[in-house]
Amino acid sequence: MKDCIFCRIVKKEVPAEIEMETETLVAFRDINPKAPVHILIIPKKHIENLANASKEDLEILGDCQLAAKEVAKKNGIEKAFRLLTVSGAGAGQTVLHLHYHLVGGWKDGIPGMEIWREE
Ligand code: 5GP
Ligand code: ZN
Repeated sequence: MKDCIFCRIVKKEVPAEIEMETETLVAFRDINPKAPVHILIIPKKHIENLANASKEDLEILGDCQLAAKEVAKKNGIEKAFRLLTVSGAGAGQTVLHLHYHLVGGWKDGIPGMEIWREE
């Protein structure tokens, strides 16, 4: 997708702090972190969101979850992290390329889900 910001990150047309890259996915730091560790894991394939994923994407989706585990470990948060995907503008999706938010690293307990839209 030509104008998709995450496709452009995949193609290295837009810089990002890449944490992990495989044949099927890229993980990079969120530009506006909502947690001490906030990394996005995206398939290289342009899939709009989970609602638009299908059985043929099963392996890619699995890869993303297992990558989350690896990236969590690399960032020292493997014992306590969250993995979240937002599907649809009505749920707050702002970038229409499937992505998983990997968040963690809180020092003072676990925040509520409102973390997603807190400034
Ligand atoms: P959404 O709101 O769609 O669930 O999440 C989109 C996320 O992408 C947001 O957390 C936002 O900060 C992040 N983001 C948007 N544009 C860029 C970008 O160009 N680079 C990086 N690294 N993150 C981005
Ligand atoms: Zn895309």
